[in-house]
Amino acid sequence: MAAGATSEQVEEVVRRARQLGLSPEVSHGRERTIVGLIGHETEPDLEKLSTLGGVERVVRVLHDHPLASRDFHPEDRVITFGPGLALGGPEVLIMAGPCAVEGEQQLEAAAAAVRRVGVRVLRGGAFKPRTSPYSFQGLGEPGLLLLREVADRHQMAVITEVLSAEDVALVSAHADILQVGARNMQNYRLLQALGEVDRPVLLKRGLAATVDELLQAAEYVLAGGNQKVALCERGLRGFEPSVRFSLDITSVPVLKRLSSLPVVVDPSHAAGRAQYVPALALAGVAAGADGLLVEVHPDPSSALSDGAQSLDPEAFCALVHQVSQVAAAVGRRAA
Ligand code: PEP
Ligand code: MN
Repeated sequence: MAAGATSEQVEEVVRRARQLGLSPEVSHGRERTIVGLIGHETEPDLEKLSTLGGVERVVRVLHDHPLASRDFHPEDRVITFGPGLALGGPEVLIMAGPCAVEGEQQLEAAAAAVRRVGVRVLRGGAFKPRTSPYSFQGLGEPGLLLLREVADRHQMAVITEVLSAEDVALVSAHADILQVGARNMQNYRLLQALGEVDRPVLLKRGLAATVDELLQAAEYVLAGGNQKVALCERGLRGFEPSVRFSLDITSVPVLKRLSSLPVVVDPSHAAGRAQYVPALALAGVAAGADGLLVEVHPDPSSALSDGAQSLDPEAFCALVHQVSQVAAAVGRRAA
């Protein structure tokens, strides 16, 4: 729409688009309003919309992921959730906690440790996607309830993984952010189910997925009506054995350019070893990440999953301090 187009003119465009069988998405930016019309690329006669009042121009954008793209939503999307929390705003949001919820004592110690240094989002897996069926699979629903209880005790929000479409209702009843694991990035039934809930989704990049595939996966959730999607870089399968996965740091600025969705970096699963986690976390913030997802365990040596890459409370505390400094250097603040 032209700068200064009236809301009546926008409504008229929306009405006419619906008549053409399209589903309009209105995006109100600071400078102008964009009406995104999702449809097949051969959609006829869109140009006639350009004659309506207030329309500046009709642009055909051939995209596999229009809703995820910055073309349709030029301004950064800010996801608000929980008690006054935001992902994608001026602050770099730190989310931290153990890989898996193991029990009350472990979770309480982890939550207290990360809360003490200002973290307001507790991570922890109740449903775990383990490579081996013989590894600890998580506590399931009791773990989820424990996560909620401990987070509430510390006035924290909860981020946790949802493994399957059948679990979406249960997990969204207790979590503030629903995490889709790397192994599930292309589980389209799950993504469709997440499109129908009113909960932020953190979509992790698959171990061998391109940026474009990640954005198309995000599109599944957005197209279902859930606009609260954040993307997470957590490392790709590479040939270098000294790390678990190779963190694709370049994907951060690339995603930020192609999409207005918030971008989170998970340094833990990429590093695979605690000693490399701080450097990757700081690199993520320097590259423009809107958030970090970090594994912290009160006693990494006894962890039931991902102990080798989990920071102990002391190392995490040092990292949070450094994150604040790097965030300040790139004009942001750590939260
Ligand atoms: C996790 O965050 O605990 C996890 C399983 O991560 P990913 O899906 O990235 O492997
Ligand atoms: Mn893990």
